[in-house]
Amino acid sequence: MARYKDEQCRICRREGQKLFLKGARCYSDKCSVTRRNYAPGEHGQKKAKLSEYGTQLREKQKTKSFYGVGEKQFRGYFEIASNKKGITGENLLQILESRLDNVVYRLGFGASRAQARQLVTHGNIEVNGKKVDIASYLVKEGDIIAIREIRKDNPIVKENIEANTVRPLPEWLEVDREKMSGKVVRLANREDIDLPVEEHLIVELYSK
Ligand code: SF4
Repeated sequence: MARYKDEQCRICRREGQKLFLKGARCYSDKCSVTRRNYAPGEHGQKKAKLSEYGTQLREKQKTKSFYGVGEKQFRGYFEIASNKKGITGENLLQILESRLDNVVYRLGFGASRAQARQLVTHGNIEVNGKKVDIASYLVKEGDIIAIREIRKDNPIVKENIEANTVRPLPEWLEVDREKMSGKVVRLANREDIDLPVEEHLIVELYSK
């Protein structure tokens, strides 16, 4: 997936919502959505009425950006979600929420999902005592996620743990900041997920 580096705020402004792509800045009054809540570009302040398809597409793009997932992988998650029991849209969000990079972010070890992804791929993280460097690894109930012993001096992680104590920890996770570890108490359900998305629109889009 092509990733924006200095342009994450433009993604939020296009969606008209905070997607928390940049770490500490997202929680400050420097947030671009707080300061300029209109789409970027010359015609950004004109409100265009979206078609039904356009609305569905935006919900999908927003969700992909929020979790930092590419189209192919996102489509794959949708297929898994639709083959599971339950409501497809909620299954989809639960799968996305179970990604290891997201869990590392939620536990406060990474300032953003992008940074959490880097911590995973650079070999800083273990699951149940074994190194896992795959950001898309899906955690399960009871898993213990921790900073690996040999990486506990990582200054980025230390700084994040101190800075992120204000970020609310979802109820489906437990964290031990001293030990730099956390536990998946249960998988996330819809009420736990703070993404302002109408997931049924994504289901409708892919069901055409
Ligand atoms: Fe930028 Fe974060 Fe605000 Fe989004 S939420 S506009 S990434 S500062």
